[in-house]
Formats: sequence, C-alpha cells, structure tokens
Amino acid sequence: MSSPHCAIEVRDLRKTYAASGKMPEKQALNGISLAIPTGSIFGLLGPNGAGKSTFINILAGLVRKTSGSVRIWDLDIDQHPRQSRAAIGVVNQEVVADPFFTPFEMLELMAGFYGVPKAERRSVEILAALGLEDKKDAYVRQLSGGMKRRLMVAKALVHAPPVLILDEPTAGVDVELRRLLWDYVRELHDRGTTIILTTHYLEEAEELCDTIAIVNHGEIVACEPTARLLSRLDYKTLVIQPKEPLSALPADLAGLDAVIRPDGSLAITFKTAETGIGRLLERVRTSGIAIGDLSTESPDLEDVFVSLTSETA
Ligand code: ADP
Repeated sequence: MSSPHCAIEVRDLRKTYAASGKMPEKQALNGISLAIPTGSIFGLLGPNGAGKSTFINILAGLVRKTSGSVRIWDLDIDQHPRQSRAAIGVVNQEVVADPFFTPFEMLELMAGFYGVPKAERRSVEILAALGLEDKKDAYVRQLSGGMKRRLMVAKALVHAPPVLILDEPTAGVDVELRRLLWDYVRELHDRGTTIILTTHYLEEAEELCDTIAIVNHGEIVACEPTARLLSRLDYKTLVIQPKEPLSALPADLAGLDAVIRPDGSLAITFKTAETGIGRLLERVRTSGIAIGDLSTESPDLEDVFVSLTSETA
C-alpha cells in the first residue's frame, strides 16, 4: 500500500460534551486543524483538560465529534469508519487486561478481531520486542504494572497499523520503563510507523517528537518543529543562595534580569545562546555576593505557555 502524504488530516474539529447532571455543557475542542505528515513522531502537548484525550478518542472512534472532518491514512472517518480505524493502533492510559488470558492469547484474540490471517500473525515477535517473551504464557494477572503497560502497546500493534497513537504513554510510569517505552517507540518509527503521542511532559515531547503541537483549552496554540519551538525557550535561570541574605540587588547587577526571591535567593534569567554561565558568576562575585550554593532551572510547559501568550499578546 502506498503511503499518503499525511497520516492524519483534521479540519475544524469541534467537540461539545452535552450537559449532564450538575455538569454544564463543555466545549472540549474548539476548531482544531492539523496535518500530521506520514513518518513523523508528532507530539500533542498540553496540560490536563486541554482536550488531548478527546482528540485521540475521536480518531479511535470512541467519541463522536460534533463537527469538522477527520481523515486517517487518507480515509474519511465518516465515509470509511472501519477501514480508517484499521489504519491506527491506539494505546490508552487505562490498563485493561483480562486476567484469564495469557499475553499470547490476548494478542491472538486481538489479531482475530482485526481479521489478521493466522499465517500473518506476529504475536511472539511483538511480545519479544516489548521484552515480554518469557511472559508469553503467564497469566496476565501475574504481570507487574509495567509489564501490563507494555502489553497494552503490544495489543495495539497486532494488525501492524501504519499509525500508532499513544495517549500519555508514560504517565505514572517509572524512569526505567519510560526509557524502554521510548526506545521501542523510536524503533517502531525507524521501521516506518507514524507515531502520535499525547503528553503533558515537555521533556517527553522534546526527547521523542520531531514536531510538537501545543493544545490549550481545546485549541492549537502552536505547531512547529521541536527545535524551533525549543529555541524560543533558550533561556535558563541561575539561582544563587548567598551566604548572607540580600536586602537589595547590588548596583553592579543592573541590566541583568535578576530578582531576589522570597526565600532570599537571587534568581538571574539569561539567554543560553548569549550569556555564558561563567561570565554571569563572575559578575555576581565582583558585585560582592558570597555564593553559598547554586542551581539552574530550565523552562517547563508553563513557561512555554507564558512565552507563547506573551508573543501573541
Ligand atoms: P486532556 O486529555 O487534555 O486532559 P480531555 O480531552 O480529557 O483533556 O478533556 C477536555 C475537557 O473536556 C475537560 O474539561 C474535561 O473535563 C471535558 N470532558 C472530557 N470527557 C468528558 C465527558 N465524557 N463528558 C463531559 N466532559 C468531558
């Protein structure tokens, strides 16, 4: 099958959840348009409640859109609901694993569900790739949390979908497992799978994605190559604990973006491309401050929003 230019194309997608009980009506998506190129690792980054899961669930056919159009692998989801969904594998946040099946049986069952002929099934290969080969015949209830999580990824891969969607793949996952999952995502990508992942960790998007779209309040507030997005954030904050508490900023530090924090530390924000940390420390020392301790802080997701909204304001 030849690949389309775009793996996913979404135009003016809207979703309003109806009011229920005491909950008022909620506009979760307010007109999202996105073209996700085939072959990318695309990150949807945004805080909790931004609308990421709603977006993913519409693609997966679990939530009905209010309006707008969605094409998956060049197939409109309204005109070709079954074929379009066969082109994606979705890994959700929930770990739902039937305790009475073994991992191998679960994958075979899923493959059957997708109509994959026996001769084309790759259950053992997929389990091995996710480090679950020796658990192939164990009961799912005997697996650790991390193993169940990997099994969920395996389940989404049985029909060899060209597009894999990972919804918060590493939320609540320990560092080791996070690395393992990241490695496997890269491996799948190298083998030609287009990857879309949602996350509220800037670090995760930065590590994996070639393009990042930032979602907030149901809208895309930025969508650009990762390097370009991060170049807007090429600053750090140097935090110095002086040996003696400071009452005022020394005159020598005029011209720097420096403040005294409530805890008495001195915080200097600087552009990493323009100012070396050594020169900065030298200025602090010549201003007469005795340095007790120091650390640096890098921008996080909050800072991305502040920087984006201050640019458009
Ligand atoms: P995210 O995945 O970015 O955390 P969601 O898509 O889950 O965001 O939620 C977007 C908004 O829609 C939130 O305000 C959430 O409370 C609301 N929402 C999500 N699912 C439902 C639902 N089934 N019914 C009503 N409101 C919902």
